[in-house]
Amino acid sequence: MCRKKVQNNPAGMSSNEVNGVGVIPVVLVHGGAWAIPDDLVEDSKAGVQNAARAGYRTLEEAGGTALDAVVAAVCVLEDDPAFDAGTGSVLNEEGEVEMDSVVMEGRELKAGSIACVKNIKNPVKLARLVLEKTDHTMLVGEGANKFAKAMGMDEVPMSTLINAKAMEDFQNFKKFRKVVDHCFHSRSSGHDTVGAVAVDRHGNVACATSTGGISAKMVGRVGDSPIIGSGAYCDNASGAASTTGHGESIVKVTLARQVLYNMQNGDNAQQAAERAISYMSSRVNGSGGTIAVSKTGDIGISFSTERMAWAWAKSGSMHFGINPEEDFTVTS
Ligand code: ASP
Repeated sequence: MCRKKVQNNPAGMSSNEVNGVGVIPVVLVHGGAWAIPDDLVEDSKAGVQNAARAGYRTLEEAGGTALDAVVAAVCVLEDDPAFDAGTGSVLNEEGEVEMDSVVMEGRELKAGSIACVKNIKNPVKLARLVLEKTDHTMLVGEGANKFAKAMGMDEVPMSTLINAKAMEDFQNFKKFRKVVDHCFHSRSSGHDTVGAVAVDRHGNVACATSTGGISAKMVGRVGDSPIIGSGAYCDNASGAASTTGHGESIVKVTLARQVLYNMQNGDNAQQAAERAISYMSSRVNGSGGTIAVSKTGDIGISFSTERMAWAWAKSGSMHFGINPEEDFTVTS
């Protein structure tokens, strides 16, 4: 398993409190766990740093909440064609973009998600509208698009969401009829789902995940990403997690909830993330990755794929990486 060594406090105890009166805000993002090809590495690393910076500014400079921060971070990733979410989404077997997203906040466990939506530039914003403006937690397909329209959200032409990489994947699929399960071991198929977790200075946590899914998926296929507890989960009582990887495996073990369950049982965020990824591997032979933050701001990053792009911003500094054991630092 690939994992990232993160320095939580030396005693191994979560301690992000400032004199017992607050929590040091942190935003942690990922750009998908898979065999990211070399030619995408630099764009992926830049993209996750931009997103973590945007999320952190929303928290620290704009006085936003953890929920505001994860949505801001994920919007940056959705707008970046290097990732499989929003612009840059992969295509289904009929050559169309169908996107899924979820957001959740940890104070009241309010959640909103959407699946199989088309022609939406920022699906995470639509998921947030489900959370804020409806009595429901999930809208799919036509209903979700109808709701977007009712909320005044503009539809964009599908062609504006499709980039050359997604098109090439689709052409390969048509040519070779690749099996989607092979995607996570293949260098040619992109599926860089994106996600973010954050904790604000009041100790509120939030999470968000967004994806175009898996290349050449069946029409109507919904993976783990928009499923509360699988693609993301959070609770102020323990922390927040966002996941990525083989959706059909992640759903079977409700991976994000697993991470929180591990934290509830005494793991710090890193241990919780590693244990959840190992469990998915041993239980259903699934590969993927997760990012997690505890309610006190400890960081957890773990992946069993070749690579996963991640970045986090806290107290004016930024950490990021993409290969196992990597941890670069810059001032944010
Ligand atoms: N989990 C996503 C899905 O199965 C894919 C990914 O994380 O890259 O839809």
